[in-house]
Amino acid sequence: MIDPNAQYHLDTLAIHAGQAPDPTTGAIMTPVYLTSTYVQAAPAEHKGYEYSRTDNPTRTALQDCIAAMEAGKHGLAFSSGLATTDTILRLLNPGDHVIVGNDVYGGTYRLFMKVFARYGLTFSWVDLADLDAVRAAMTPQTKLLWLETPTNPMLRLADISALAHTAPQGVMVVVDNTFCSPAIQQPLTLGADIVMHSSTKYLGGHSDVVGGVLALNDTEVYKQLKFLQNAVGAVPGPLDCFLVLRGLKTLGIRIERHSQNALQVARFLEDHPRVQQVIYPGLESHPQYALAQRQMKHPGGMISVILKDADEARQMVSRTRLFSLAESLGGVESLIEHPYTMTHASTADSDIAVSPALVRLSVGIENADDLMNDLRAALA
Ligand SMILES: *Cc1c(COP(=O)(O)O)cnc(C)c1O
Repeated sequence: MIDPNAQYHLDTLAIHAGQAPDPTTGAIMTPVYLTSTYVQAAPAEHKGYEYSRTDNPTRTALQDCIAAMEAGKHGLAFSSGLATTDTILRLLNPGDHVIVGNDVYGGTYRLFMKVFARYGLTFSWVDLADLDAVRAAMTPQTKLLWLETPTNPMLRLADISALAHTAPQGVMVVVDNTFCSPAIQQPLTLGADIVMHSSTKYLGGHSDVVGGVLALNDTEVYKQLKFLQNAVGAVPGPLDCFLVLRGLKTLGIRIERHSQNALQVARFLEDHPRVQQVIYPGLESHPQYALAQRQMKHPGGMISVILKDADEARQMVSRTRLFSLAESLGGVESLIEHPYTMTHASTADSDIAVSPALVRLSVGIENADDLMNDLRAALA
């Protein structure tokens, strides 16, 4: 069992934080507490658990583990990444203003514009690489700055530390860290107020669970979010929490392998005659390579490729055999998708529309030569 006063590295926290052996049996693995309610000795006399929407021990283990891995004091888990985003946005009131990067996950765009805009929140979509544009977008009503880095699918980076220092007092900086995970960057250590994830992706890592988590340091904001988690009720089931916890244990080694494979695949694609441009933070050709080197411990597993021809892009995604044609990302298996017709179809007539010649790869942890051979054959 870990020493609560010691400092441990991420790979150690992933395996031990929040996960003491079960005191009644010694089971080394966190039990899956499939229970909705808890027996009380007398009214309000209980062991910290009353009802599983409010708290569940398997969820507590996950929440404590992700808090430790993101270098935060508090963690909360939800039934999906979007449920996490939804709960964070409920901290705001009608009339409040949010600044958002102009290249975010399509579902985030949809939630903000098609749901929260109806409740009186206003949104400005800004290029977060341009700090002057961010400052110019601030109004007295601005309460939140929402950023993703690298963005999806254009893999543009935002300088978390610079943005956190640009945001005035009273503007919360929230980082969607789904594409990186804490094995690559820990936004709270760079000045962000809240870090959130779709744990469906790298944290779970095995494409077998949908979930979301957040972590933060501010105890007052944590209490508000904890209230909302229980009041709104978008909580994960205990088995889902177990699956994410289990995934977290191998996060460090998976991210290393994802990154090594993706770098090889990105270099291979950069030399391919059918390819117009490869966007990958680990390539020197990435316009923000210097920032990537400074901010990211590894370049990650996501690559965007713009082919010379849009029809070729559509055909390529159906021709690969190891890269499965599917939405989502971050699992051990490689995926390929066509954002224009798939993940980003709902943004087609907006400011953040993507090119029909764009293909997005989530590079898995298979053998890199096999992956490159698969792409070579699909582009032939
Ligand atoms: C998938 C994803 C989400 C949404 O998460 P779900 O678990 O699908 O609800 C949010 N942000 C990013 C960057 C994502 O990739």
